[in-house]
Amino acid sequence: MSGQELNTSLSDLALQQPVTSVKGVGPRLEKFLRARGITTIEDILFNLPLGYLDQRGGLKISGLRPGEYVSFVATLVNAGEVRYRRRRVFEAVFTDGSGLVTAKWFHYGSWLSQRLRGFKGKLRVSGTLRLFGGKLEVHHPELEEVEGATEEDGAVVPRYSPVPGIPPRTYRRIIDQVVEMYVPHVPETLPPAVRDYFKLLDLQAALRQVHFPTEMPDRGELSPGLRRLVFEELFFLELQIVRGKEELSRRTGHAMTLDRDFLRRVGRLLPFTLTKAQRRVMREIAADLAGGRPMNRLLQGDVGCGKTIVALLTALIVIANGFQAAVMAPTEILAHQHLVNMEPYARALDIPLTLLTSRLRAREKQSRTEAIASGEARLVIGTHALIQEAVAFHRLGLVIIDEQHRFGVMQRLALRRKGGSPHVLVMTATPIPRTLAMTLYGDLEVSVIDELPPGRIPVETRVIEAEERGRVYEVLRREFAAGHQAYIIYPLVEESEKSDLKDVTTMTDHLRRQVFPGIGIAMLHGRMPAEEKQEIMEAFVAKRVNLLVATTVIEVGIDVPDATVMVIEHPERFGLSQLHQLRGRVGRGGDRSFCFLIHEGGGLETRQRLAVMEETNDGFRIAEEDLRLRGPGELIGLRQHGITDLRLADLVRDATILADARRAALALFEKDPEIVKPAHAAIRAKIERQSRRAAELLETS
Ligand code: ADP
Ligand code: MG
Repeated sequence: MSGQELNTSLSDLALQQPVTSVKGVGPRLEKFLRARGITTIEDILFNLPLGYLDQRGGLKISGLRPGEYVSFVATLVNAGEVRYRRRRVFEAVFTDGSGLVTAKWFHYGSWLSQRLRGFKGKLRVSGTLRLFGGKLEVHHPELEEVEGATEEDGAVVPRYSPVPGIPPRTYRRIIDQVVEMYVPHVPETLPPAVRDYFKLLDLQAALRQVHFPTEMPDRGELSPGLRRLVFEELFFLELQIVRGKEELSRRTGHAMTLDRDFLRRVGRLLPFTLTKAQRRVMREIAADLAGGRPMNRLLQGDVGCGKTIVALLTALIVIANGFQAAVMAPTEILAHQHLVNMEPYARALDIPLTLLTSRLRAREKQSRTEAIASGEARLVIGTHALIQEAVAFHRLGLVIIDEQHRFGVMQRLALRRKGGSPHVLVMTATPIPRTLAMTLYGDLEVSVIDELPPGRIPVETRVIEAEERGRVYEVLRREFAAGHQAYIIYPLVEESEKSDLKDVTTMTDHLRRQVFPGIGIAMLHGRMPAEEKQEIMEAFVAKRVNLLVATTVIEVGIDVPDATVMVIEHPERFGLSQLHQLRGRVGRGGDRSFCFLIHEGGGLETRQRLAVMEETNDGFRIAEEDLRLRGPGELIGLRQHGITDLRLADLVRDATILADARRAALALFEKDPEIVKPAHAAIRAKIERQSRRAAELLETS
């Protein structure tokens, strides 16, 4: 180990220390921090502010801008409960002499009036400023008592995402200390040449600037500090992709032979003939499998185009060659559905099949894990549980990842490190714009299924104004009477303090009692235990349930042919591509199907956006519109699902940084292919940490 490497490792150790090494952080604060995923000094350093508050004085209410997160010091004019027609609201009026702001709480306890009634001192009020009927309001603001001058007056103060249990000021004291004490130990992770070329701050300066800027950052522009950190994150992502591709090109894969007799037997089992597009894709895949290199292919195709059967056929080829095949789905429900779809084929062909998810009982899990390790299980279907450390395959020949956009890039790369050099097929219904595909999937070949199976009747889509919801309910009644099924989607699981959005829990109750008495209604959302979700889906498939009231857990892949109506409340909350995915849940059988988007509260712009859904059923066109209107971040669903490896970068905002980072990664790689086994200790440590984090994400998501 060289001197520099030794230093780097020591610094690294300093950063990996637990949060309790910060003065004033004891077990109590540690617990609160841990609940937010903050356990080490490094976590604190890289938990960046959401924004900043300008407390350099002089900022008066009269100078505040609606629509922004603001903070001002004011005295209380009056406070008390106000009754409106249907609800009670707690209101408090504040002034600083230059203007008035009304704070409103729609949900509150007695603590609020106890705290505010008769309060004489000064308060710092922070929240998003809104303009209603010419008056300024903040809803559910954060309040801090201000006693005399504080050390933060006159500063630009960082605003962090709240850590429940820890007051903002306490958190800021922690970060203050951490920056002071640990930033000098942070090792530089970008090669100097890259930093020079792209004019990036060094890491220590960047961290200081991001946490404690001296100036208010320009609106809509990344500060140099943040730019450096985002660059770094994307640079390492690209480095991994480039490295992955290179690694792959040097590996030999298991060459599979195509057994014509076997394929004919499989063909006879299919209840339909493959579409032209499916056949073309199968030829591409077969050529990959037969070549001497591991396949690494992305299969894109609109919802309902029939990717599952392609996955199955691919798996069967590999299994016929004496290997195991693994199919990985992002949710338990989807894994189970694959099981149901694939089981009859497996049985007919005498292929042992196993389902592995993280929620199996320990003993069951162990016996299945053993069957996988011994090679007895040939077709293995599962969730993330499949790529966890403990699962070793006997002879893994193929990994299929369904709905790839739900997994992070790094997760996908982590998979490849598993067992030999399996062929990899990733599938997604989300069309990915070319530029992004290059940077995020630059290591993959692409196949497209651009054709739906014959006989599909396009789903009829209507945007309905909320007042006409009754008409939608009429259609639902008619469909139920005809023996059909339906979905209603709401954005929230439960009633929320912070919004007026409708939720699954309240509405299920309402629909049961008031709207569709006598109809089998069940609710489904992500907070339910997996088994319960499972049971409900099964009941829906078996038609014991007619109406499924759900959040977007049902978004991907679910296939129930008798479901003919999809109702989406608050469609403005979703991206067009996501709406299209939801719509894809219906119209899967031979019956006329409908999708109703209930428009409420959105403006004209929303209405226009939704009109795209009425006009077309073409997922690629919708994706283009989405890209034009909202940007690729929404499109690939990274934001919606939160399952992503990126902590800082935003693929919409940072598209040009992403391109630069890729250039840098490629350049560095070409000059120094040794980066495959990175010689630079800091880079190596960082890559290792990143893969570890990807692996952790796999286990927790
Ligand atoms: P997705 O691509 O969205 O995963 P699926 O694989 O779930 O779509 O297929 C949707 C439905 O279409 C399934 O019910 C499947 O059986 C059916 N299907 C697939 N291919 C064909 C085909 N060639 N002809 C008729 N039906 C098909
Ligand atoms: Mg699917």
